[in-house]
Amino acid sequence: MDKAGAIDRFLGRIDQFRQIALVTDEEMTQLFGGEVGQSLAQLERFATENRMCADCGGVCCRDIGCELYAAQFSQCPIHECRPIACRMHFCRRLDDPYRSLIIELRDVFVGCYRAMDFWPGASLRSLDTPPFGEVCPRFVAAVAPWVNAVRQGSLAPGTAGGGLGRAAANYRRYRASGKPDSEYSR
Ligand code: SF4
Ligand code: SF4
Repeated sequence: MDKAGAIDRFLGRIDQFRQIALVTDEEMTQLFGGEVGQSLAQLERFATENRMCADCGGVCCRDIGCELYAAQFSQCPIHECRPIACRMHFCRRLDDPYRSLIIELRDVFVGCYRAMDFWPGASLRSLDTPPFGEVCPRFVAAVAPWVNAVRQGSLAPGTAGGGLGRAAANYRRYRASGKPDSEYSR
């Protein structure tokens, strides 16, 4: 993998995006290039076919303190536009047979993450998401009642998941119009 090329591409394009806290598959390829995009798709296929994350129930999401995690969800409730860090995280259960590819992707992520130390502006802070509280607190405040209701068993995960997916898509549209998180309300 051309790791340096992927990092350069990301740093060269990031400022063209209004926000990179919630990103799609297509945006991942735009940001990191086709090699990274195809590798991520390959790993996700493997994980899905073998029910790795589904059967695990999202231990890494829980451990990182993600505000959108509830044990009752069968997968990330904003799977279509989950953050970059979530997309580039693969735990040891996925090491075999993709260990070297996972290490390469991790190197790309860490290379971009390190640029935070010298990057002008706040856009790169989104690589530190989740948790979401620092980067998009108004979005989290808007969706937290749904997640809490699922955790408490008063709302069906399927119902909440649909609502959270739509809320994430709405938030992306709102940010794409140039407005800041600080003025967001659902
Ligand atoms: S990456 Fe690993 S810990 Fe995280 S949900 Fe998937 S299998 Fe579980
Ligand atoms: S946003 Fe990331 S950490 Fe949170 S539930 Fe989704 S995949 Fe897990």
